[in-house]
Amino acid sequence: MTDKETKYDAVIVGAGVSGLFMFYKLKNMGLSVLVIEKSDELGGTWNWNRYPGARCDIPSLEYSYQFDEELQQEWNWSEKYSAGPEILEYLNHVADKFDLKDYINFEEEVIQAKFNEDSCLWSVSTNRQKYVTKFCIFATGCLSIPNKPEIPGLESFEGELLHTATWPREEQNFTDKNVAIIGTGSSSIQTIPEIAKDVKNLYVFQRTPNYSIPSNNGPMDKDVEAQVKARYSEFRKENSLNGFGLASLSDEAMISESDLEEVNSQFEENWNTSGLAFFGGYADIPVDVNSNEVAANFVRNKIKEIVSDQETAEKLCPKYHIGGKRLCVDTGYFQTFNRENVHLIDLNASPIKNVNSNNIEADQDYEIDVLILATGFDAMTGALTSLDILGRNEVNLKDQWKEGAKSYLGLGVSNFPNLFTITGPGSPSVLSNMMPSIEQHVNWIADCIGWMSENNKSVIESTKTAEDEWMELVNEIADMTIFTSTQSWYNGSNIEDKAKAFLPFIGVPVYTEKLEEITAAEYQGFIFDKSN
Ligand code: NAP
Repeated sequence: MTDKETKYDAVIVGAGVSGLFMFYKLKNMGLSVLVIEKSDELGGTWNWNRYPGARCDIPSLEYSYQFDEELQQEWNWSEKYSAGPEILEYLNHVADKFDLKDYINFEEEVIQAKFNEDSCLWSVSTNRQKYVTKFCIFATGCLSIPNKPEIPGLESFEGELLHTATWPREEQNFTDKNVAIIGTGSSSIQTIPEIAKDVKNLYVFQRTPNYSIPSNNGPMDKDVEAQVKARYSEFRKENSLNGFGLASLSDEAMISESDLEEVNSQFEENWNTSGLAFFGGYADIPVDVNSNEVAANFVRNKIKEIVSDQETAEKLCPKYHIGGKRLCVDTGYFQTFNRENVHLIDLNASPIKNVNSNNIEADQDYEIDVLILATGFDAMTGALTSLDILGRNEVNLKDQWKEGAKSYLGLGVSNFPNLFTITGPGSPSVLSNMMPSIEQHVNWIADCIGWMSENNKSVIESTKTAEDEWMELVNEIADMTIFTSTQSWYNGSNIEDKAKAFLPFIGVPVYTEKLEEITAAEYQGFIFDKSN
């Protein structure tokens, strides 16, 4: 070890929601821990995605930490769904309250992590220096590497080029400008109504339309907040027993067994109250294509009611199963297309031929000052495969995952001893409320490290068999649903050259049950202190 190589018990990569809590846990266990964060601020997703309209589509009372009773009682959210800046304020409050900030190395970027089989330690190299650590924990998020697709001529554009996932901190002034946005996923659906208010023209370049449900956002209902806070832990527990780990997604009723008139009137109520929970309004929407079509049709009819121009409305109507791509939640998205300054361009009918210095050529030339890419992320694996993570025999994680990411429980990967991922592939992660899923993983990792210490184990590693069987289960479950029938970032379809494999585990309660069983059986499927 050279003078510059500082040794830690654990290095945590990332200071977002998961990195902060992981650090809190390990610090309290008395471990020496370093957190490395690429940005000059904490917050992860909420730090990077600062586009106008950025808002969490999980209710504020659920999208918050539960590990500290005082914290969950003292913090008051101003709205039913929190805007990005308020979530950042909350995360800063958490970091201040628990004295976390001073131990984070900001503006430092991990380039390589390499396992040394002789010492059983990791060497973590950054743009600044090298660290040696026993445990290497990736808290790098599921949606953190922006997808920047190859669009012909993009490099010749001379106007302002923005990506929703790397939005500048300074306020952008679009007044009287011609703005184009490419992509119509959640980020775009949130930002379009905000941007449309100021611009001269907004050109929306759409490849695939999305289903979106109104958020029905508003100021926090103080009575609801008080009721939840009076029984916060029971509320959290109840939510964790629902399929997606969210409140009010537990309806057992089936469309296939219900009267259609009643279904439609229930949908009407859900449309006006529920946001994402619309998808869970009936238990068979995710699993029965006919029932799914009833829900999909309800939303298509809503789009046609809201959007005045029926040609535009038709283009905005998705044709695939509702939920196949991540459902969106909006504030006035479809209504925005009734504005005279908003224009929808269907890329299927007329693809982008070229981007020039000041225009986009498609069915016609669109002169623009600003071009916004709202083109998503290399989801679930991108943050790990964009680094060099070298395990046993110097195998690179990106090579091991070339044919599809395999992980045991979304927590550990064979050949990568003492490496943990928080909400990795094969865990509910993006198909759940991320906050409790993150807390579940952080608690598990901390407990596992504690157990290893008590039981004189130095190295943990998942077996290839456990990992293979786990990913088979992930896919077996997914194949029973509509999720695998649509091209989406859940299965890598949005990134050229990425293996097309479905990655999230569907079903929070089943996942929790399995995780608890495996843990109780002394970490079945993991091996400890494997000899080289
Ligand atoms: P996304 O859902 O992946 O949407 C990307 C959009 O860009 C899609 O419409 C895609 O079209 C389009 N696109 C990609 N490459 C293109 C190309 N070469 N030419 C034309 N169009 C192209 O990304 P996102 O909107 O950033 O959202 C990602 C996820 O982040 C969400 O699903 C959600 O989980 C999360 N998120 C959450 C919130 C929230 O909590 N409120 C907000 C924002 C994001 P295709 O569909 O045809 O590929």
